[in-house]
Amino acid sequence: MNCLFCKIVKGEIPSTKVYEDEYVYCFKDINPITPIHYLVIPKEHISGASEIDEKNSSVVSHIFEAIAKIAKAENISEGFRVVTNCGEDAGQTVHHLHFHLLAGVKMGWGEEAVQPVK
Ligand code: 5GP
Ligand code: ZN
Repeated sequence: MNCLFCKIVKGEIPSTKVYEDEYVYCFKDINPITPIHYLVIPKEHISGASEIDEKNSSVVSHIFEAIAKIAKAENISEGFRVVTNCGEDAGQTVHHLHFHLLAGVKMGWGEEAVQPVK
C-alpha cells in the first residue's frame, strides 16, 4: 500500500517525532497552520474517521489519551483544538486517519473555522 503516513510510521519518510507508543505516533505537520501543529495517528492503517468500527475503535481512545499526555508534556496550557478531516468535502488529503492537534494561538470558532472553498 502506498500510504504516506504508513511510511512515516515505518521511518521510510523522515518526520519530527513528538510522541510515540505502541499504538500511536505523533509528529510535526510539515505545513503548520498554527504555532503548534502536530498530527496524531494510529500506527495501524485506518483510512479515515468513516472507517472506525467496533474492531479498531479502541485506538481512538488511545489517541485521545496520548493527546492529553502530549498537551501536558509540551506545556500546551492555554488550550488546544483537535480536528480530523474526513472525505473530500472536509479536505482530507492523506487517507490515513489523523488528528490535527492545533495550539499556540487564540482560535476563532464559527463560520471562519469552516470557510467554504471558493
Ligand atoms: P488533511 O488535509 O488530510 O487533513 O491533513 C494532512 C496533513 O498532512 C496536512 O496538514 C499536511 O501539511 C500534512 N502533511 C502532508 N505531507 C506531509 C509530510 O510528508 N510530512 C508531514 N510531517 N506532514 C505532512
Ligand atoms: Zn497508512
